[in-house]
Amino acid sequence: MKAIIMIVEDEEKLASLLRDYLNQSGFDSVWIADGNQVLPRVREAAPDLILLDLMLPGRDGLEICKEIRTFSEVPIIMITARVEEIDRLLGLELGADDYICKPFSPREVVARVKTVLRRAGEHPAPPSGALSLDVDKFRALLHGQDLDLTAVEFKLLHFLYQNPGRIYSRGQLMDRIYSDQRVVSDRTIDSHIKKLRKKIAAVAPEEELIHSIYGVGYKYEAE
Ligand code: CA
Repeated sequence: MKAIIMIVEDEEKLASLLRDYLNQSGFDSVWIADGNQVLPRVREAAPDLILLDLMLPGRDGLEICKEIRTFSEVPIIMITARVEEIDRLLGLELGADDYICKPFSPREVVARVKTVLRRAGEHPAPPSGALSLDVDKFRALLHGQDLDLTAVEFKLLHFLYQNPGRIYSRGQLMDRIYSDQRVVSDRTIDSHIKKLRKKIAAVAPEEELIHSIYGVGYKYEAE
């Protein structure tokens, strides 16, 4: 089966150039010009990868990327018009898989698409269904019930959830959660994780989502 690449781009000429190259390279493509149509189409077409332009009519790429990440781990390549912007985007931790700057050669885009798809194929499929996270509101729903997390608990859960099966040490988690250089001890992470697990258990006692790996750290894994 051909992989479906969703092209989100309001410049028609550019989009059709990309389509030609992608089709020649053995991909199927879907083109969307309006930012407002992206989310419903992502749910409907279930693309294997999204090429997402930052500047769009309707909604901007940043917002769209964040929102897609609340329900899907589909690989996203962000396309920006300014190279300086990439640093800023990286800092926002949108969850995009790669960044390409305009003007680009379509050949390079195809090469990056292949690389990102290959990388994505190496990870186990992400969990789905039971847990959904709203990064704007810091809200986590498990089986439709609000877990009522603190900001730190939400960040921990969100980070682990994005990388299912991967084990993180307490130190790595602290680096991710606390952006300032505040000194916190390993115990702090343990105590946040403990509360987080308690809240998960209150909703779904039989489901263990956050696993502790003795002497190493923690990982997220849905059974
Ligand atoms: Ca644009």
